[in-house]
Amino acid sequence: MLRFGTYVRVGNAAEAYELLQKNRNNKIVGGGIWMRLGSRRVATAIDLSACGLDQIEETETEFRIGAMCTLRQLERHAELNALVNHVFEFAVHDIVGVQLRNTATVGGSIYGRFGFSDVLSAFLALDSYV
Ligand SMILES: Cc1cc2nc3c(=O)[nH]c(=O)nc-3n(C[C@H](O)[C@H](O)[C@H](O)COP(=O)(O)OP(=O)(O)OC[C@H]3O[C@@H](n4cnc5c(N)ncnc54)[C@H](O)[C@@H]3O)c2cc1C
Repeated sequence: MLRFGTYVRVGNAAEAYELLQKNRNNKIVGGGIWMRLGSRRVATAIDLSACGLDQIEETETEFRIGAMCTLRQLERHAELNALVNHVFEFAVHDIVGVQLRNTATVGGSIYGRFGFSDVLSAFLALDSYV
Protein backbone atom coordinates (compact mmCIF):
# COMPACT_ATOMS: atom_id res chain seq x y z
CA MET A 1 0.00 0.00 0.00
CA LEU A 2 1.14 3.54 -0.73
CA ARG A 3 1.15 5.78 2.36
CA PHE A 4 1.63 9.53 2.64
CA GLY A 5 2.75 11.18 5.90
CA THR A 6 1.49 14.58 4.79
CA TYR A 7 0.03 15.91 1.57
CA VAL A 8 0.88 19.43 0.43
CA ARG A 9 -0.59 21.23 -2.55
CA VAL A 10 2.04 23.82 -3.43
CA GLY A 11 1.39 27.04 -5.34
CA ASN A 12 4.44 27.10 -7.59
CA ALA A 13 7.35 24.99 -8.80
CA ALA A 14 9.92 26.76 -6.59
CA GLU A 15 7.94 25.83 -3.48
CA ALA A 16 7.76 22.23 -4.71
CA TYR A 17 11.50 22.13 -5.31
CA GLU A 18 12.26 23.50 -1.85
CA LEU A 19 10.02 20.92 -0.21
CA LEU A 20 11.52 18.14 -2.32
CA GLN A 21 15.03 19.04 -1.13
CA LYS A 22 14.06 18.86 2.55
CA ASN A 23 13.74 15.08 2.77
CA ARG A 24 14.70 12.36 0.30
CA ASN A 25 11.41 10.62 1.11
CA ASN A 26 9.39 13.59 -0.08
CA LYS A 27 7.97 12.89 -3.54
CA ILE A 28 6.11 14.72 -6.24
CA VAL A 29 2.78 13.21 -7.21
CA GLY A 30 1.79 13.46 -10.86
CA GLY A 31 -1.35 11.51 -11.69
CA GLY A 32 -0.38 8.99 -9.01
CA ILE A 33 -1.27 6.19 -11.42
CA TRP A 34 2.08 4.46 -11.26
CA MET A 35 2.93 5.40 -7.68
CA ARG A 36 -0.22 3.83 -6.30
CA LEU A 37 0.88 0.42 -7.58
CA GLY A 38 3.88 0.42 -5.25
CA SER A 39 4.19 -0.23 -1.56
CA ARG A 40 6.06 2.54 0.16
CA ARG A 41 5.76 5.36 2.66
CA VAL A 42 6.22 8.85 1.27
CA ALA A 43 7.01 11.45 3.94
CA THR A 44 5.42 14.39 2.14
CA ALA A 45 3.47 14.02 -1.08
CA ILE A 46 3.86 17.18 -3.15
CA ASP A 47 0.88 17.97 -5.36
CA LEU A 48 1.57 20.27 -8.32
CA SER A 49 -2.02 20.61 -9.45
CA ALA A 50 -2.29 24.25 -8.30
CA CYS A 51 0.93 25.34 -10.06
CA GLY A 52 -0.60 26.05 -13.46
CA LEU A 53 1.53 23.36 -15.09
CA ASP A 54 -1.39 21.73 -16.87
CA GLN A 55 -1.18 23.68 -20.12
CA ILE A 56 0.36 23.18 -23.55
CA GLU A 57 1.48 26.60 -24.75
CA GLU A 58 2.60 27.48 -28.24
CA THR A 59 5.19 30.25 -28.58
CA GLU A 60 6.83 31.55 -31.76
CA THR A 61 9.63 29.01 -31.45
CA GLU A 62 8.39 26.03 -29.46
CA PHE A 63 5.64 24.20 -27.64
CA ARG A 64 5.93 24.31 -23.84
CA ILE A 65 4.28 21.32 -22.20
CA GLY A 66 3.57 21.54 -18.47
CA ALA A 67 4.51 18.63 -16.22
CA MET A 68 0.88 18.23 -15.11
CA CYS A 69 -0.48 17.92 -18.65
CA THR A 70 -2.18 14.59 -19.07
CA LEU A 71 -1.47 12.02 -21.75
CA ARG A 72 -4.95 12.75 -23.08
CA GLN A 73 -4.00 16.41 -23.60
CA LEU A 74 -0.93 15.27 -25.54
CA GLU A 75 -3.07 12.95 -27.61
CA ARG A 76 -5.72 15.56 -28.42
CA HIS A 77 -3.68 18.72 -29.01
CA ALA A 78 -4.33 19.45 -32.68
CA GLU A 79 -1.58 22.01 -33.36
CA LEU A 80 1.14 20.07 -31.54
CA ASN A 81 0.21 16.83 -33.27
CA ALA A 82 0.05 18.49 -36.67
CA LEU A 83 3.64 19.72 -36.18
CA VAL A 84 5.04 16.31 -35.20
CA ASN A 85 3.16 14.13 -37.67
CA HIS A 86 0.75 12.97 -34.93
CA VAL A 87 3.48 11.14 -33.02
CA PHE A 88 1.93 11.86 -29.61
CA GLU A 89 -1.53 10.80 -30.73
CA PHE A 90 -0.21 7.47 -32.03
CA ALA A 91 2.22 6.94 -29.15
CA VAL A 92 -0.40 7.19 -26.42
CA HIS A 93 -3.79 6.27 -27.88
CA ASP A 94 -3.40 2.58 -27.00
CA ILE A 95 -2.33 3.17 -23.38
CA VAL A 96 -5.05 1.45 -21.33
CA GLY A 97 -8.12 3.71 -21.66
CA VAL A 98 -9.23 7.32 -21.71
CA GLN A 99 -9.69 7.43 -17.93
CA LEU A 100 -6.07 6.48 -17.33
CA ARG A 101 -4.85 8.89 -20.01
CA ASN A 102 -6.92 11.64 -18.40
CA THR A 103 -4.97 11.10 -15.17
CA ALA A 104 -1.41 10.04 -16.04
CA THR A 105 0.83 13.07 -16.52
CA VAL A 106 3.70 14.04 -18.77
CA GLY A 107 5.88 14.83 -15.72
CA GLY A 108 5.30 11.39 -14.17
CA SER A 109 5.96 9.69 -17.50
CA ILE A 110 9.25 11.51 -18.07
CA TYR A 111 10.56 11.36 -14.51
CA GLY A 112 9.53 7.70 -14.23
CA ARG A 113 11.97 6.77 -17.05
CA PHE A 114 10.06 3.55 -17.64
CA GLY A 115 11.86 1.32 -20.14
CA PHE A 116 8.50 0.48 -21.74
CA SER A 117 7.39 4.09 -22.08
CA ASP A 118 5.76 5.07 -25.35
CA VAL A 119 5.56 8.63 -24.03
CA LEU A 120 9.26 8.95 -23.32
CA SER A 121 10.15 7.36 -26.66
CA ALA A 122 8.07 9.97 -28.46
CA PHE A 123 9.78 12.82 -26.62
CA LEU A 124 13.23 11.31 -27.22
CA ALA A 125 12.55 11.12 -30.93
CA LEU A 126 11.76 14.84 -31.02
CA ASP A 127 13.90 17.87 -30.35
CA SER A 128 12.67 18.08 -26.75
CA TYR A 129 14.25 19.08 -23.47
CA VAL A 130 13.20 19.42 -19.81
C1 LIG B 1 -1.74 -0.29 -15.84
C2 LIG B 1 -0.79 0.67 -16.51
C3 LIG B 1 -0.45 0.48 -17.84
C4 LIG B 1 0.43 1.36 -18.46
N1 LIG B 1 0.74 1.16 -19.78
C5 LIG B 1 1.57 2.00 -20.41
C6 LIG B 1 1.89 1.83 -21.80
O1 LIG B 1 1.44 0.90 -22.47
N2 LIG B 1 2.73 2.73 -22.36
C7 LIG B 1 3.26 3.77 -21.66
O2 LIG B 1 4.01 4.56 -22.23
N3 LIG B 1 2.96 3.97 -20.36
C8 LIG B 1 2.14 3.10 -19.73
N4 LIG B 1 1.87 3.29 -18.39
C9 LIG B 1 2.54 4.41 -17.67
C10 LIG B 1 1.75 5.70 -17.77
O3 LIG B 1 1.70 6.12 -19.11
C11 LIG B 1 2.44 6.82 -16.96
O4 LIG B 1 3.73 7.02 -17.45
C12 LIG B 1 2.55 6.52 -15.51
O5 LIG B 1 1.27 6.24 -15.01
C13 LIG B 1 3.21 7.68 -14.74
O6 LIG B 1 2.44 8.83 -14.79
P1 LIG B 1 1.76 9.44 -13.48
O7 LIG B 1 1.35 10.84 -13.80
O8 LIG B 1 0.74 8.49 -12.99
O9 LIG B 1 3.02 9.49 -12.49
P2 LIG B 1 3.08 9.19 -10.92
O10 LIG B 1 2.68 7.78 -10.62
O11 LIG B 1 2.37 10.28 -10.18
O12 LIG B 1 4.67 9.41 -10.69
C14 LIG B 1 5.64 8.53 -11.26
C15 LIG B 1 7.03 8.96 -10.73
O13 LIG B 1 7.36 10.25 -11.22
C16 LIG B 1 7.54 11.18 -10.12
N5 LIG B 1 6.96 12.44 -10.61
C17 LIG B 1 5.67 12.65 -11.01
N6 LIG B 1 5.54 13.90 -11.49
C18 LIG B 1 6.77 14.50 -11.38
C19 LIG B 1 7.27 15.80 -11.69
N7 LIG B 1 6.49 16.75 -12.25
N8 LIG B 1 8.56 16.07 -11.45
C20 LIG B 1 9.38 15.11 -10.89
N9 LIG B 1 8.95 13.86 -10.56
C21 LIG B 1 7.66 13.56 -10.81
C22 LIG B 1 6.84 10.55 -8.93
O14 LIG B 1 7.43 10.97 -7.70
C23 LIG B 1 7.08 9.06 -9.18
O15 LIG B 1 8.38 8.70 -8.78
C24 LIG B 1 0.99 2.45 -17.73
C25 LIG B 1 0.63 2.64 -16.40
C26 LIG B 1 -0.24 1.78 -15.78
C27 LIG B 1 -0.61 2.01 -14.34
